[in-house]
Amino acid sequence: MKIFEARQNCCGCTACVQICPRGALSLWPDSEGFLYPVVDRSACVDCGLCRRVCAFQRDQKAKNSPENDSTINPLKVLAVKHRNIAIRGQSQSGGLFTLLSDPILSRGGVVYGAGFCPDWIVCHQRAETIEARDALRGSKYVQSDLGNTFQSVRDDLLQKREVLFSGTPCQIAALRSFLMMGKIDIKRLLLCDLVCHGVPSPMIWRDYLAWREQKTGQKIKNVVFRDSKRFGWHSGMGTILFANGLLEETGVFSHLFYGRLIHRPSCYACPYATPRRVSDVTMADYWGIERAHPDFSDNIGVSLALIHSDKGSQALSEASERMEVVESDIESCRQTQLRRPAAPSPHRAEFWANYTQKGFQDASKRYVAKTLARSRLNALVRRSETLSRLVQAFRRIV
Ligand SMILES: Cc1cc2nc3c(=O)[nH]c(=O)nc-3n(C[C@H](O)[C@H](O)[C@H](O)COP(=O)(O)OP(=O)(O)OC[C@H]3O[C@@H](n4cnc5c(N)ncnc54)[C@H](O)[C@@H]3O)c2cc1C
Ligand code: SF4
Ligand code: SF4
Ligand code: SF4
Repeated sequence: MKIFEARQNCCGCTACVQICPRGALSLWPDSEGFLYPVVDRSACVDCGLCRRVCAFQRDQKAKNSPENDSTINPLKVLAVKHRNIAIRGQSQSGGLFTLLSDPILSRGGVVYGAGFCPDWIVCHQRAETIEARDALRGSKYVQSDLGNTFQSVRDDLLQKREVLFSGTPCQIAALRSFLMMGKIDIKRLLLCDLVCHGVPSPMIWRDYLAWREQKTGQKIKNVVFRDSKRFGWHSGMGTILFANGLLEETGVFSHLFYGRLIHRPSCYACPYATPRRVSDVTMADYWGIERAHPDFSDNIGVSLALIHSDKGSQALSEASERMEVVESDIESCRQTQLRRPAAPSPHRAEFWANYTQKGFQDASKRYVAKTLARSRLNALVRRSETLSRLVQAFRRIV
């Protein structure tokens, strides 16, 4: 029995595994370290639930159908900043996640999001306190392990707890489908997704950290994927802090991520790279804020909030006293990830072939050397173009 045709048709959302009544599905990593469901034929009773729950394949098929009007826009588009600058500094963008989750925690609700498990593995966690929620702040550019969080959300909702679930759009679509199939009442559930560039391989992340620990002879004490406190909100660079106090930039890993070499194959065929979502609120960086709303722009972080439902509007209005907000529009904030999925690097196949044969260090060294050489060449070309423009302007004057 096949649950998906090709690797690009499975985003690893775990909904099929978590819904199977016979425990016949389990997740196994492929050669790139991404988890895929595998069926134990001896336990399967062919009930078909796993295929019906798969929102990702349904949405991929629906993407190009005439009924799917990708011009449908959010109810509201907002630029948002938490009034507390310290909280903005601890968040990835403008602190929207904290603004949305605070009221839920204060009413005794539960918040889910991606944090760190031991050994810096990125995994989804359940938070009932401010401290546990704070540990979910910050973007982790690795696919998070969802474990059995969908079942846990279902149990919370059955116990009439309020729940906020945050994650990538494919995780949100999957959770919604999982709950709908179980006929679970979702009126107490706030779904918050992200504008999503794609998720890198957990295996490359593990290899990268092992290499840095081996190289420095030190254990890792902290990781920040995008260290905006140190480099400013516009920078994509992260840092690793080692036990002896050494602080290092995440240069190689950031290159591999932004170079689109290590994304999950489904990310290059993602049906959610559009303003149309199944969540209540979409959270993102408001890229282009300096052009759209210059007075609101700064280098600490501004969130983009796309509101898709009345529940989403209500959640934002509950946070109104703690935030600064400017009404915006979809065209001003439409970054690439709201238009189309990331394209794979032309070197992706070469990178993975190299990785399989010679391992992480060899593959990453070759690729990073190539991209660094190319970006230096581009910078040189840009500089010489600027220089020749200056010379021409000078000639016109004299
Ligand atoms: C893999 C990834 C790709 C992204 N790509 C873009 C992009 O292309 N353009 C853009 O504008 N914004 C992107 N974002 C979103 C952006 O970086 C911020 O996470 C978002 O604006 C929320 O910021 P905040 O200040 O409100 O939240 P914070 O307080 O910093 O909270 C971070 C939120 O992100 C969630 N999260 C963190 N890591 C993961 C993960 N691995 N999987 C699922 N959920 C996670 C947490 O659960 C939490 O809800 C991406 C985020 C991730 C994780
Ligand atoms: S439900 Fe999720 S994990 Fe299962 S096949 Fe579909 S995309 Fe893959
Ligand atoms: S068909 Fe039913 S029993 Fe078989 S793997 Fe899928 S959900 Fe499980
Ligand atoms: S790019 Fe699409 S498929 Fe990949 S993690 Fe993001 S939402 Fe999921």
